[in-house]
Amino acid sequence: MKFFLAGKWQDRKEQLDVTNPANGDVIDTVPVASADDIEAALHSAQAGAKVMAALTGYERFQILRRAADLLLERRDQLAQVLSSEEGKTITEASSEVERSAQAMELSGEEAKRLGGEVLPLDGGQGVQNKLGFTLRIPCGVVAAITPFNFPLSLVCHKVGPALAAGNAVILKPASDTPLIALHLVKALLDAGLPGTAISCLTGSGRSVGQAICSDKRVRKISFTGSYEVGEQICAIAGIKKVTMELGANSPLIVLPDADLDKVVAATVFSGFANAGQVCISAQRLIVTDQVHDELMGKLIPQIESIVSGDQLSRETQMGPMVRSADAARVHDWISEAEKQGASIACGGQREGAFMEPTLLLSAGKDMKVVKDELFGPAVAVCSARDADDAIAMANDSNFGLSAGVFTQDVDAAVRFAKEVDCGNVHINGGPLWRTDLMPYGGIKDSGLGKEGPRYAIDEMTEMKSVVIHS
Ligand code: NAD
Repeated sequence: MKFFLAGKWQDRKEQLDVTNPANGDVIDTVPVASADDIEAALHSAQAGAKVMAALTGYERFQILRRAADLLLERRDQLAQVLSSEEGKTITEASSEVERSAQAMELSGEEAKRLGGEVLPLDGGQGVQNKLGFTLRIPCGVVAAITPFNFPLSLVCHKVGPALAAGNAVILKPASDTPLIALHLVKALLDAGLPGTAISCLTGSGRSVGQAICSDKRVRKISFTGSYEVGEQICAIAGIKKVTMELGANSPLIVLPDADLDKVVAATVFSGFANAGQVCISAQRLIVTDQVHDELMGKLIPQIESIVSGDQLSRETQMGPMVRSADAARVHDWISEAEKQGASIACGGQREGAFMEPTLLLSAGKDMKVVKDELFGPAVAVCSARDADDAIAMANDSNFGLSAGVFTQDVDAAVRFAKEVDCGNVHINGGPLWRTDLMPYGGIKDSGLGKEGPRYAIDEMTEMKSVVIHS
C-alpha cells in the first residue's frame, strides 16, 4: 500500500515488508518515510489543524459517524487484513473492527458536545462585575503513535477523539501492522475528512516516531506501547501534552469464596485472548491456598483445549504471536522460570511464532514471568495465604493498569477496589475488560492520562479562560 501524506497517497523506493506471522509470507509492502516526508507531514498538519478547527462540531460528527458506518460495511475485508498482519484470529479481528467503529461513533458524539463552563469569579475576594467562562480549543497537531496488538482499535482511540476535538493528526502505526491503519485513513477520507487533516507515515519507530515526537509543531502526543519507548518519547517531547498508555503484568486474584467456574472462564479469556498480547492480559493468577488445587483441576483442561493454529480459520481460538522472536522470548522466560522452581502444568512448547497456551505453577516474585511484562500466552500462578497477602502481591509491581478479583464478600471486594493500585479494578471479572465509554489508563509505570473518547478529548484540547470586564 502507499502511505497518505499531505493530502495524497504516495509511494517511495524504500519499502518495508508486512508479513503474516503464521508463515512469514509477505502480504504487502509499505513505504519508509524519510526526513523530508516527516517535514511535509508536519507542514501539512499545521494547515490541516486550521481546516479542522473551522469545521463545526456537527460537521466533525458527520465525518466520524460516516467513517464508523464504512468500517462496519467493510468489516469482513478489514478483518482479513488485520488478522493476516497481526496474527489474531479472524473472529477476534472482526470484533476489533466492530469495537473500532464504536470508538469512532462515540468520538463523533463527543464532537457535538465540546463545551466549557461558567466560572464563579465573584467567589474571589473583591471581584465584581466580571463574567468568566471557559472554552475548549483544539491542541492543533496531534501525534498518534500506536502498537501492533490492536492496530485498528487503538488507532481509532486516538484518531477519533483528535479529529472530534478539531485537531489534525500525524499517525505512525506499528511497523508490523501498518496496513489496517492505512485502510482506516481511506475510510476517513471516503467519509469526507479533509485531506490535510491526517497523514499516516509508515517506517521505523526509532526514526519516524522520534522525529515526529520531538518536533515543536506537535502540541500533543498520544502514545500506546511499551514502557521503554514511552520513556524515550517523554525524554524528547519537550513542552507538550502527553498521554502514555503503557504495559502491565495484570493480576487476577482468587479469594477462597470465589466462583471457580467464573474464574476459569475469566482466566482463559484474560490470559490467552490475542495470544496473550493484550496490555491488560491476566499474567499473574494470585490464588489463595484454600482453593488452589480445586481451581487448577478445573483450569488446566480448559487451557489444554484451546485450539491454536491458522488465524484465518474460523475454528481457531488462538493464533500466532506477532513475531517468532517474541514467541522465542516468551519461551525463554518460561524455561528460565522452570529453572528457578516453577513447573509447567500445560503448554510450554514453541514452533515459529506459535507459542502453546501455558500455565506455570509455583511462580515466584523474582521470576521475569511475574515481575516483568510477559506479553504472551502464559499465565503464572502465585500462591497467597489470604486477602492481605494477595493485595500485597498484586501491588508488588511497577505496573498498575488493570486487576480482577473474584470473591462473594462485598467488604473484601470494596477493599480490593480501594487498595489495589491500578487504573481499572474488576470485581468478579478478569482484568481484560474494557468498554469505550469508561476512562481507561494506568497508574505507576503503566502510564499517564486516560483514553475513552470523552476522556481523550479532554487530553486533546486546551482549556482557555475568558473574562468579560464590565
Ligand atoms: P512498542 O513500544 O515497541 O511500539 C509502539 C509504537 O512506538 C510503534 O508504532 C513503534 O514503531 C513506535 N516507536 C518505537 N520506537 C519509537 C521511538 N523511539 N520514538 C517514537 N516511536 C517509537 O510497542 P509494541 O510492541 O508495538 O506494543 C506492545 C506494547 O504496547 C506492550 O508493552 C503493551 O502493554 C503496550 N500496550 C499498552 C496498551 C494500553 O492501553 N496501556 C494497549 C496496547 C498495548
